[in-house]
Amino acid sequence: MDLPRGNQTNTSARIPWVRALLVATALLAAATVRADLPPPKPPLPSQSNPPSLVQPADCIIGQTCYIQNYVDADPGPAARDFRCNPLSYDGHKGTDFAVPTLADMARDVAVLAAAPGRVRGVRDGMEDGAYLNDPNSVKEVECGNGLAIEHGHGWETQYCHLRKGSLLVKPGQEVTSGTPLGLIGQSGLAEFPHVHFALRFQGKPVDPYNPDRRDACAQPPEQTLWTGTPPAYIPGGVLLAGFAQRSPKLDVIGAGGGAAETLPPDSPQISLWGYLFGVRAGDEVVIEFAGPDNIYHKRTNKIDRNIAILSRFSAKRRAGPAWPTGAYTGRVTLMRNGQSLDYKTATTFISP
Ligand SMILES: [Zn+2]
Repeated sequence: MDLPRGNQTNTSARIPWVRALLVATALLAAATVRADLPPPKPPLPSQSNPPSLVQPADCIIGQTCYIQNYVDADPGPAARDFRCNPLSYDGHKGTDFAVPTLADMARDVAVLAAAPGRVRGVRDGMEDGAYLNDPNSVKEVECGNGLAIEHGHGWETQYCHLRKGSLLVKPGQEVTSGTPLGLIGQSGLAEFPHVHFALRFQGKPVDPYNPDRRDACAQPPEQTLWTGTPPAYIPGGVLLAGFAQRSPKLDVIGAGGGAAETLPPDSPQISLWGYLFGVRAGDEVVIEFAGPDNIYHKRTNKIDRNIAILSRFSAKRRAGPAWPTGAYTGRVTLMRNGQSLDYKTATTFISP
């Protein structure tokens, strides 16, 4: 089996070359396959040591407060909340816990620390309602009176629009869940009294109702960052209803006025108004009231677009020389898809 030397040399020289080529091809193939794989995903917020949150406002959702806006879940120029309803606006990065009126704000609703942590920054001294008087006055200070709390592991919460002079904590102070921080107000860029509550992980906004941004249109997400049952999700409703001689303007209702406990018998008309939030195109607002001697009035008001806050009213003109004396009771109902979503009642008296 003596092979010619030349031949042998030739073969042994070829083998490492082929082997090198094969190895290089294999590496290249592996590299190609690796490039086709998606980049490694960062851990989900819900799996990154998130704080467990309590409601950051000392009020009852649906009774003494409501949520006007959630985190905008739409990545584009449109806006929707995590349930795919329009309770948000483009780029909104927090949850707005609101009280219906300025009169409710004056009843001192506490803003609470949502989780244990250390206060980072505090600002106080800005006027409530300044944005409505002069939008330029809140430039660069949109949060108004507020603060941030660091919770560790890259997590932070922020609380905005607190009432002037109400802040109770200092930078560096340790707080725990439910520590009072101040009061709900309307400082900074705020059109209504509320606390804007923002949650951030590594500087990026996270929706505590849907931290991992799962599809939650049909069903609420199982994974939230709230302790126990999350603050109630209410997709729109009637905040207030009241009787009046003349239907009050929106800002009068928003201030806490506009409802008459009594009306004179010679009132030219009786008006019933409702103050509603999260109203949608296609909804109906039913306004009805009844009084002595079979006085009855009912009107249905069709809504043609989505509106964050609105008032609607309907009035009945006096037929005779005077209204029958006694109690008048009314109801304002928000109808959605033919069903009652929410209602509020009101009473007034006509005395001789
Ligand atoms: Zn907000």
